Amino acid sequence: LMQLFRPLDLLGMVYREIRQGLIDMEAMFKLIDTPAEVVDAPDAVPIAVTGGLVRFEDVHFGYDPERTILKGVDFEIRPGGTLAVVGHSGAGKSTLARILYRFYEISGGRVTIDGQDIGHVTQASLRRAIGIVPQDTVLFNDTIGYNIGYGREGATQAEIEAAARGAAIHDFILSLPQGYDTKVGERGLKLSGGEKQRVAIARTLLKNPPILILDEATSALDSRTEADIQATLRGVEQGRTTIVIAHRLSTIVHADEILVLEAGRVVERGTHAELMARDGLYADMWMRQASEAEEKEAA
Ligand code: ATP
Repeated sequence: LMQLFRPLDLLGMVYREIRQGLIDMEAMFKLIDTPAEVVDAPDAVPIAVTGGLVRFEDVHFGYDPERTILKGVDFEIRPGGTLAVVGHSGAGKSTLARILYRFYEISGGRVTIDGQDIGHVTQASLRRAIGIVPQDTVLFNDTIGYNIGYGREGATQAEIEAAARGAAIHDFILSLPQGYDTKVGERGLKLSGGEKQRVAIARTLLKNPPILILDEATSALDSRTEADIQATLRGVEQGRTTIVIAHRLSTIVHADEILVLEAGRVVERGTHAELMARDGLYADMWMRQASEAEEKEAA
């Protein structure tokens, strides 16, 4: 009988692998357009993340050889620290995140995590170590419990609920007609942008990665929801090395370092206070966003 089950087991495994692949793809959908073929080095070993020290050393990259996008980017994020990346559209912010996830091979420089070159480790282990809260979360046509449990295979109901609490969506779920068994997605209950983001946060909490990429949504949630989600995210960031791709500067005031990217180069860097004192591009962007916010308030 076991002989009979073994292939089924294998099928189940392949199926789970494919679905995990799909969700990674989905998570990265906003970050990537067409993933290039990056293959593991023959001697690749699983990455051993000890503290989560992330370093970019003189990183050069272009999606095609004729057009360089990143022109020598350097930064270091201490274990558990937060780096925010800002800059105009097309500056290369998302590209940095894609490179850390190793969706593309860089053409020069080095990216390391705890001293290990990410080009020398297995992609599967690298991607297990990195969690992404994407701009938009696409839900599976399944229960909300399943959608959260997706963060980690084999998660128990208690673990799923703990993650939902951490993402501040547990009470909302309990208020639904069928609780955790409520169907969501295209054919089920439609969730708001904020609720979907909370599902993504809960998934990430279950995955419990030492490194986190937050790809901030460009489409604004209402300011109260936004503030609530930001507060939740500050909690999720605790103890994890975090890169925030930021559009609203008010959400990154707490970052250890802010990089201002322009056409693939770091043109300013420092804390919020340092950059404001510098009175350069960042201060300019800040003033502009502040006056836009005031205008919105007044309208
Ligand atoms: P935004 O704030 O609009 O999201 P960004 O700073 O994140 O912008 P990136 O997405 O990193 O910008 O893009 C940087 C540059 O790389 C852009 O000029 C873009 O056109 C180019 N680019 C992005 N993805 C690809 C791709 N898959 N193939 C070719 N070029 C790309």
